[in-house]
Amino acid sequence: MHTHTLTQLSAALATGQVSSVELTQHYLDRIQQLDPQFNSFITLDAERSLAEARAADARRAAGHAGPLTGIPLAHKDIYVAEGWRSTCGSRMLENFVSPYDATVVARCKDAGMVTLGKLNCDEFAMGSSNENSHFGPVKNPWDTQAVPGGSSGGSAAAVAARLTPIATGTDTGGSIRQPASFCGITGIKPTYGVVSRYGMVAYASSFDQGGPMARSAEDCAHLLNVIAGFDERDSTSLQRPAEDYTRELNQPLAGLRIGLPKEYFGDGLDSEVAATVQAAVEQFRQLGATVKDVSLPRTRMAIPTYYILAPAEASSNLSRFDGVRYGHRAAEYGDLADMYERSRSEGFGAEVKRRILTGTYVLSHGYYDAYYIKAQKVRRLIADDFQRAFADCDVIMGPAAPTAAFDLGSRSNDPLQMYLEDVYTLSPNLAGLPAMSIPAGFNRAGRPIGLQVIGNYFSEARMLGLAHQFQLNSDWHQQQPGSLA
Ligand code: GLN
Repeated sequence: MHTHTLTQLSAALATGQVSSVELTQHYLDRIQQLDPQFNSFITLDAERSLAEARAADARRAAGHAGPLTGIPLAHKDIYVAEGWRSTCGSRMLENFVSPYDATVVARCKDAGMVTLGKLNCDEFAMGSSNENSHFGPVKNPWDTQAVPGGSSGGSAAAVAARLTPIATGTDTGGSIRQPASFCGITGIKPTYGVVSRYGMVAYASSFDQGGPMARSAEDCAHLLNVIAGFDERDSTSLQRPAEDYTRELNQPLAGLRIGLPKEYFGDGLDSEVAATVQAAVEQFRQLGATVKDVSLPRTRMAIPTYYILAPAEASSNLSRFDGVRYGHRAAEYGDLADMYERSRSEGFGAEVKRRILTGTYVLSHGYYDAYYIKAQKVRRLIADDFQRAFADCDVIMGPAAPTAAFDLGSRSNDPLQMYLEDVYTLSPNLAGLPAMSIPAGFNRAGRPIGLQVIGNYFSEARMLGLAHQFQLNSDWHQQQPGSLA
C-alpha cells in the first residue's frame, strides 16, 4: 500500500479494496517500525488518527466521500492543529497544544483526509538542514549520514521513506524545494497568497507560503486543490476564482519555452548537480520544449537581501513568545523584564536568536535606511529581473540547491556556509513567484538531485503539468531508498 500514489490510494478507497482505518493503521505501523532511524515525526497520536479514519470511512459509507477522503497525510509542525501538540520544532512551544486548526489543516480535514502526525522541522522554519530542531535532527532516508534538507526536512524524509503518502511543508526561502531535492521527492511552493497562512506560525510573513510535498507532481496537484484558495482570515490571501491544479497534467510539452539563467550555473555549483540538471533540461527538449539562455543578473544579491528582510520580519513575529500568553516560561526569575529575558533565552535555540539579533539590528534607528529600506529596494529589482526573463520564456529551470544532501554536522557550526545553500531558492520568495523541485537523478554517492522549476505568477497548473509530463518519461520520482526495499 505504501508504494501506491495518491491516485492509486484514492481508487483503492473508492472500490473498497482498503478502508481508511486499514490504510491509516498501515502507515502508523510503518512509522513506528521505521521512523526511529529518521526522526521525521515529532508527535503521533494513533487514537486521534484512527478516529479521523473511522469518520472518513463512515463518510464514504454515507456516500459523501471526495477524492481524498480517507487518505492519510502529515503536517509540518509549523501548522497548528486542534488538539495536537504544535511545537514549530522549538522548546518554546514544546508543550503547546493548539486550540484551533490552521486553514490548511482545516481544509484537509474538510476533504476527509486523516492526520497521521506532526512532522519535524527546523525551529520556526529557520534552517536548511533540519539540524536546528529542538527535537533533534532528521536523517535522510537515502543515507542516514546525510541531512534531509530544511526546514521541511521531516516532511521530505517521511514522504521519501513512505511513512506518509503526502505531506505539507512551508517555504520562506526554499524550505519545500531544497528538502524535496535532497530527499528525491516533488514539492511546490505556490505563488505568494495562494495558500492561506492562517495558523501557519509566522517566520517571515511576506515570504512564507505553504505547499504540498509528495512523490509525484500529480499527487501535489491533488493536494493543492484541497489547500489553495482565498481565506478571509489571512490579510494577504488572494481573492481569485477557484482553480483545478490538475487541469494541465496532460498538456504536451511541445511549445514550452524554458529559460536557463546563466547565473544559476556558475561558481559554487557542484559538477554532478550541474550535469544532472542539464540532462533533465535536455530531456524536456527532446520531449518538445525549446531552451534558451536568460539572465537573472541580481541572483547574487538574493542571499544578503533575504538575510536582512527575513530576520527583520522574524524579529517582529517572534516577539509574541514572551512566556506570558503561551510558550515556555522560565521557572525562576526576578522582575518582569528578567522573566522575558530568561524565558526567551531558554526557549529559543541559537539560530533563532541569531535571526532575532540580526533582525532587530537592521530595523534599529540609524540602520533602518541603510539595511532594511535598501534591501526592500533590491527585492523589487530582483522581482523585475524575473519579469524581464519571462518575456522570453514560460518557465525558468535550474538547480534547486548547489549540492546534493551534505553530511550531518558538516555545516552546522558555520551559519554563512549554511545560508549559501539557499542561493537558488531565495529569489522566487523575494519575488513571490511559484517554484518547485522535481527529482532529476542521483550523484555517485546515491544522493538525490532536484531540478528547480520557477514559473510566473499563478502558473502552478502549467508547472505541475510539465513536471507530470517529465515524470511520465522518467522514473527518478519512483525510486525508493535502498534501506526500505
Ligand atoms: N533556509 C532558509 C532560512 O533558513 C529558508 C527557510 C524556509 O524556507 N523556511 O531561512
